[in-house]
Amino acid sequence: MTGNKVNYAKRTESIIEENTRKSLVPSLLLQVCCAPCSSHCLEYLREYFRVTVFYYNPNITDEAEFTKRKEEEIRLIGELNRQVEMQDFTGMHSTGQAHRIEIMPCPHDAQKYEEAVRGLEQCPEGGDRCTVCFRLRLRETARAAAEGGFDYFTTTLTISPLKNADRLNTIGEAAGREFGVEFLPSDFKKKDGYKRSVELSGMFGLYRQDYCGCRFSKEESIRRKAGEGNSTCSSLAAY
Ligand code: SF4
Repeated sequence: MTGNKVNYAKRTESIIEENTRKSLVPSLLLQVCCAPCSSHCLEYLREYFRVTVFYYNPNITDEAEFTKRKEEEIRLIGELNRQVEMQDFTGMHSTGQAHRIEIMPCPHDAQKYEEAVRGLEQCPEGGDRCTVCFRLRLRETARAAAEGGFDYFTTTLTISPLKNADRLNTIGEAAGREFGVEFLPSDFKKKDGYKRSVELSGMFGLYRQDYCGCRFSKEESIRRKAGEGNSTCSSLAAY
């Protein structure tokens, strides 16, 4: 899989161009990991899709952290929807065609994550535990998208410069085939997407955590701060 030169950002653009040519505004279920990562993705996607956010993150095993990130996501959606209502996109990258963003309730399921990664506790970040974690989140998103009759589903996870876009897109495509719903390929970090997410996080004063989500990444972050170990996966470590 490594060495694959697929340009997923171009694929996103091609799909958008095709839908625009047909005057279609498809529905999209977007798995969101946190508000900072979703900021650029939502700014971009709401121009072309009717986006529903799916905050499905059983990997965030700490209940308080899960809730904090969720509330921040809800606050961001509120801010973005206010712009649509007011038709005021000052400071945003917008064609003026942005659509309202909805949010779909979903369970926390921390136990499901623990069961999924059993035996992989010692894996370094970026290893097999993360593959299982991606699959868990993307399969559930695909299932919900199929049940909800969405045209597409995808994830914000490709915004992270430290997460493997090939791996995420391969897992997403497989989940799409399994549940019979189209996966929207993505590499949101491209075209300065990651940089834009940092700008938007500052603009909206978003809470930016310093670890990916699971208890293992939290422990690794603590070790890192203490000057031990290193990380290859924490999406927000570079924020
Ligand atoms: S480091 Fe992030 S992607 Fe990897 S298992 Fe933990 S929460 Fe999931």
